[in-house]
Amino acid sequence: MFVATKDKPLATTITGSLPRPEWFTSGLDGRAFSIAMGDRIFREQYSDAVSVLINDQWRAGLDVVTDGDMRFDVDVGGRAWHGYLHDRMGGMSPAARHAAATGPRGREGTPGDILHEVSETRLPPRLVGPATRGHLEYTDIWKAAQRVTAKPVKLGSCCGQLVELLLENDYYGDRGEAVMALSAALNEEYHELADAGCPVIQLEEPCLHFSPDDEFGLSLATYVEAFNRETAGLRAKTEVWCHTCWGNPFAQKVESGYLYKPVLDHMAQLDVDVITFETAANGGAELAEIAAAIGKDKKICIGVIEHRTLQVERPEEVAALIRKALKHIEPERLILSTDCGFGRQGMSRVHAFYKMVALVWGANIVRQELGLAEAPIPAADKRFSFLYRTAS
Ligand SMILES: [Zn+2]
Repeated sequence: MFVATKDKPLATTITGSLPRPEWFTSGLDGRAFSIAMGDRIFREQYSDAVSVLINDQWRAGLDVVTDGDMRFDVDVGGRAWHGYLHDRMGGMSPAARHAAATGPRGREGTPGDILHEVSETRLPPRLVGPATRGHLEYTDIWKAAQRVTAKPVKLGSCCGQLVELLLENDYYGDRGEAVMALSAALNEEYHELADAGCPVIQLEEPCLHFSPDDEFGLSLATYVEAFNRETAGLRAKTEVWCHTCWGNPFAQKVESGYLYKPVLDHMAQLDVDVITFETAANGGAELAEIAAAIGKDKKICIGVIEHRTLQVERPEEVAALIRKALKHIEPERLILSTDCGFGRQGMSRVHAFYKMVALVWGANIVRQELGLAEAPIPAADKRFSFLYRTAS
């Protein structure tokens, strides 16, 4: 059900991750969040980092904010996004470089390709026992962010089928069984989070759009079934999102096909309130197809800001893409975001900050055209500029 974006046409948000402040030098280093929060230095740095990043989002005027994924360590190519689960869910062996059954494929197996560097540091565990939630502790992580702001905080997580794709299964009879077990374990975690009051839970990257021809060895129908097992019962409690994009390790696009169209019918079957699409990078090329395929019970969240480029979008560019989307999607069902997270090795805090401002600035142009209330953008308020001596 709609909670955070209820009655908010053209609501604005970001995918999740933000560049770490440079002074945030400690990390979980494999510890449970609750254990690390008993470490005075980590607790202070983590709490302060979450506060300043939420404040940055407030200054940019965003409606729905995130904790910037500050639980993730400084690692290589964004390993922590899936590694956080690999290192903490029950049933996993310690992370190590195993001799993979099939060996790395494609770009990831090609020395000299930037994705090879990601692959070298991925360190997947083996599934050696029943998959359980382990100590993900998403509820406490969400609380640590929500208690410093009145704005709704979205909590996102890599989804179970991606967790399965990147590990070796030694326990379950087949991969389909392993995917369903991981999805069920995560569903338990999300229910605790929803019961605690989290206003948006975002499951990130089902394998569907990366595997239109069952390339990953499991059918699209299996992936849909697993995803809906992971969200089962959640929509009765809170707002549930599915995030999709075309890749983010080292801010790279990992897929060359780059089309949602072949899998839109399956994406429409996902049991969620909102589906996000990467649309800024290709100028909204598939907006008509996306709008036609996704049912009216869902909202569509489009990327209007790129996460792979350093050039900050102009508000007019953002507004133009929003207008293009509005030809196919009602403003009440349209949410505005970034194509993916700003990550930890893609850009600086400054770039990410001004991209967030551009997002809301562009949204305000269209809001004004539609007669909707504009969002205050403290960062764009002349009264607080050193360059102006009187308000104008
Ligand atoms: Zn993404």
